[in-house]
Amino acid sequence: MDPLNRSIATLVPLLPKPVVRLFSRRYIAGDTLDDAIRVVRSLNSDGMMATLDVLGEHTTQRENAAAARDAYFEVLQAIDEHKIDSNISVKLTQLGLKLDRSLCEQNIEAIVARARDYNNFVRIDMEDRTCTADTLDIFTALRSRHDNVGIVIQAYLRRTLTDVERLIECSANVRVCKGAYIEPRTIAYKSPTIINRNFSLLVEELLSHGCYVGIATHDEEVIWSAYRIAHVRGLEPHRYEFQMLLGVNDELARLIVQAGHRLRIYVPFGPHWFAYSKRRLRENPRIAGYVLQNLFTKRG
Ligand SMILES: Cc1cc2nc3c(=O)[nH]c(=O)nc-3n(C[C@H](O)[C@H](O)[C@H](O)COP(=O)(O)OP(=O)(O)OC[C@H]3O[C@@H](n4cnc5c(N)ncnc54)[C@H](O)[C@@H]3O)c2cc1C
Repeated sequence: MDPLNRSIATLVPLLPKPVVRLFSRRYIAGDTLDDAIRVVRSLNSDGMMATLDVLGEHTTQRENAAAARDAYFEVLQAIDEHKIDSNISVKLTQLGLKLDRSLCEQNIEAIVARARDYNNFVRIDMEDRTCTADTLDIFTALRSRHDNVGIVIQAYLRRTLTDVERLIECSANVRVCKGAYIEPRTIAYKSPTIINRNFSLLVEELLSHGCYVGIATHDEEVIWSAYRIAHVRGLEPHRYEFQMLLGVNDELARLIVQAGHRLRIYVPFGPHWFAYSKRRLRENPRIAGYVLQNLFTKRG
């Protein structure tokens, strides 16, 4: 990241909500489930699958955790009714992880069981370092009872290569990503080169042990490396999928599909868009720059 973009990234937490809102339109399907269904239908018609995320995290009230669970029930029902190709992605802190772990476990179990009734699949997103161990434990317990649930690992964490052994043991369905949170050097690699190499190593480990892998990145070097692994191992396209976030790189998405690979787009929606949008802004401060520039040119 160049010095200007780095300085913009450090200012992101200070940006007022209306400014972040301007930018977030690109990354978020809308406020309602209808908005999300419309976006997924359009992605499906372009040959892309989706995963729907009801925005929200770090719930502090039991009733909000229950409301998030119920919102996912509605999403599963809507996917079924509208016959769209989508699964769901869920954050455990939204279901009460920081409030009461057993409540969170009940909520996620209920969602996975409901998804099974609809023949659908639940991906548990990975959050910051304070959630890693709990998320992996909850996932492995769920996995022993259900096969329609998957997990996410982060290539920037030093521990992940060891965690992968546990996931291989239970034939987990794993999304590999770089990691979106700001973590200290003691637990996370900082070098982009090491993160990229670790990413490819994790993908290779998982694929070589028969796990289904979601390769979640917009970094073409990492994508190429995954193409290489699939090619060298002679893997059929149904053994893995690429995954990208809505609105980040439509051209690259089309190229992946045209090359004959499966691609799933992460589609967040709902009124709780603020924290998610700030993370996306920090990853691409150039966009924040454009938004601010537009603001000033409109006013000038
Ligand atoms: C489907 C999916 C699910 C994810 N789930 C999780 C999760 O559960 N937990 C977690 O910690 N992280 C998750 N992430 C986020 C991930 O960890 C990274 O923070 C994010 O994907 C950026 O990393 P990158 O691999 O694209 O590489 P980068 O090196 O960051 O980016 C590669 C290229 O894409 C561009 N780019 C990246 N982000 C943006 C953006 N927001 N807007 C515009 N351009 C951008 C960059 O400018 C660069 O050119 C997920 C990502 C994806 C794609």
